[in-house]
Amino acid sequence: MALVDSDERLVFHQRIRLPYRYTTGDQTKAFLLALAERRILGSRCEECRLTLVPARPFCPICAGRTGALVEVSDAGTLERATVRIRDEGPVTFGLIRLDGADTAFLHRLEVAPERLRSGLRVVARWDPDPAPEITAISCFVEPGASEASTGDGGG
Ligand SMILES: [Zn+2]
Repeated sequence: MALVDSDERLVFHQRIRLPYRYTTGDQTKAFLLALAERRILGSRCEECRLTLVPARPFCPICAGRTGALVEVSDAGTLERATVRIRDEGPVTFGLIRLDGADTAFLHRLEVAPERLRSGLRVVARWDPDPAPEITAISCFVEPGASEASTGDGGG
């Protein structure tokens, strides 16, 4: 049988480089600059009466413009988590509802997989020298977790 007539799935793997520039806008700019000060900002939708984290210019519920910036806690409650198994080890991501926020915030977790459950309390582990980037928060850990561990992967 000729190869072109085969029903066998053919897969090729390739990496693409996709450089881009993104203009943050006022709300995202404020969010990122606050991260460098170890603070987390949300934006308030007065129509829905929701505090949205990260701060954003539009409400995802009513599509209206958001208003005031609101500082929320760097501690919150884990809503959902997923573990990705990589060659280098597992990496865990979670949706975290920070105290004072009405929406969940996606970030990396450093929590033992057997400890993961909805409702788990977690707190940000800040980078020692935070930049105005999402990586100013290294990950979220359980309160009281060692500050010494900064490695990748679940623990
Ligand atoms: Zn709204």
